[in-house]
Amino acid sequence: KTFAELKLMDPLKLALEEAGYTHPTPIQAEAIPSLLDGKDLLGCAQTGTGKTAAFALPILHRLVQANKKASPRHARVLVLTPTRELAIQVHESFATYGKNLKLKYAVVFGGVGQTPQVRAVSHGVDVLVATPGRLMDLIEQGYIKLGELEVFVLDEADRMLDMGFIHDIKKVLKLLPAKRHNLFFSATMPPVIEKLANSILVNPVRVEV
Ligand code: AMP
Repeated sequence: KTFAELKLMDPLKLALEEAGYTHPTPIQAEAIPSLLDGKDLLGCAQTGTGKTAAFALPILHRLVQANKKASPRHARVLVLTPTRELAIQVHESFATYGKNLKLKYAVVFGGVGQTPQVRAVSHGVDVLVATPGRLMDLIEQGYIKLGELEVFVLDEADRMLDMGFIHDIKKVLKLLPAKRHNLFFSATMPPVIEKLANSILVNPVRVEV
């Protein structure tokens, strides 16, 4: 299978060509068609498998198709990651794959000043990548709103729980619209993770790499 066979829009295929990608990785080949159909996804995958493009590409495709605009301080897609390093990487991936689209990408994480992050989301963003602590801080101050969210992605869920983010995740979930597209990734699937996944996902497609 090649990327040409996947039903991704031309600006995305062009970005992949420019990045030098020719063939989808197994998780990309499996996940992209289901995600393009808007199905919830449970992905059992480590970093290094091409997981980020597996979710970023179909999400970008659907954002353009939906043809909506984020209201001030709102995000259309939220990707939660356990660490700032991963948040930065995921944000860069969206910016790279989505460079030929007229969408806005932002990233927020702790340990640095919040002013540039507040400014980056002030007019609304299409894709917001965030670590849970700083996200909750900015939400509680009224700088970020999630009431219009279309897509929720929980990345590296097992590490999130190891790092003690379960309470922040539950607080975030309460703020999301009931009807939304959900993606859940974890390298391991112990019962506590399965339980969290079941509380978020609706009839998910399961992909294992
Ligand atoms: P990830 O698992 O998302 O962290 O991706 C691992 C690395 O593989 C990243 O550096 C990507 O740029 C790269 N990558 C992802 N998908 C492909 C692909 N289909 N072809 C070549 N490289 C890829």
